[in-house]
Amino acid sequence: MRFDRKDILDIHSLSKKEISMILDIAQGMKEISERPVKKVPTLRGKTIILFFEEPSTRTKLSFDTAAKRLSADVISISKSSSSIVKGETLIDTAKNLDAMNPDIIVMRHSSSGAPHIISKRVRASVINGGDGIHAHPTQALLDMMSVREKKGKIKGLKIAIIGDIAHSRVARSNIRGFSKMGANVNIFAPETMMPMEVEDLGCKKALSVESCIEKADVVMMLRIQKERQSNILFPTEREYATLFGLIRERLKLAKKDVIVMHPGPMNRGVEIANDVADSECSLILDQVTNGVALRMALFYLLAGGGKTNDKN
Ligand code: ASP
Repeated sequence: MRFDRKDILDIHSLSKKEISMILDIAQGMKEISERPVKKVPTLRGKTIILFFEEPSTRTKLSFDTAAKRLSADVISISKSSSSIVKGETLIDTAKNLDAMNPDIIVMRHSSSGAPHIISKRVRASVINGGDGIHAHPTQALLDMMSVREKKGKIKGLKIAIIGDIAHSRVARSNIRGFSKMGANVNIFAPETMMPMEVEDLGCKKALSVESCIEKADVVMMLRIQKERQSNILFPTEREYATLFGLIRERLKLAKKDVIVMHPGPMNRGVEIANDVADSECSLILDQVTNGVALRMALFYLLAGGGKTNDKN
């Protein structure tokens, strides 16, 4: 199968076959990070620009690490170090970056849709590293990779996604991705953090946090996205933790072999209790490890490999 996409902007535009192909390649890439010399020449001579307008620890470092493991040249710019602070438009900034002839631009932006606008105006491939509340496709892909690796499948699993669904791009991309791959996605959010249209993405709304967790194979907790909330949507963090947080007692409702996930950064003691985050069922650091392999796979597919290598 050929991978003929120019950009990776959201999960919704990827087919089931394309997602499976990306996960298979990522699984193969994982071994490179376990070698004593963690580098292959695959993308030697290719240039990747990381343009992060919003803060990031995991995603940015993960893209950076992935690019370096494939021997690409990586250049990073942030909003504060770019001419955006002097009043340059996003489109002008992107066109100028593109004029330096990079192969891929990875973009994170606080405005939903920013990477989509840019992708139509630049020659380079664009990967969405998270845009506003809209999408975080590489997070969803690495989450699907982590579940498939641990459970051997995605189809038929009950996935519970809990927290600030309204402001979460991770939730939107994961609901779409896991549903597309045949999982049963159940979501729960406090009323004030539950968007109206969400069932259209392919999930069911649970009426309580307990019923969402009940018999789940996977429980994914989300951070409260205070930076995207204009009003205070819950009284106190202590009440949030008591009413909706993932504590041991609640987790007992899930299947015995449940796995717990979180995209990070975690607010320990709020949406997830310390002992759950650090428990044997936590997949949180495996998600980070798999994130590097997944992003290596995307770089490989977009910067040449997928275009010339007919697999089937
Ligand atoms: N790191 C994820 C994101 O950028 C989740 C979060 O920030 O809570 O969307």
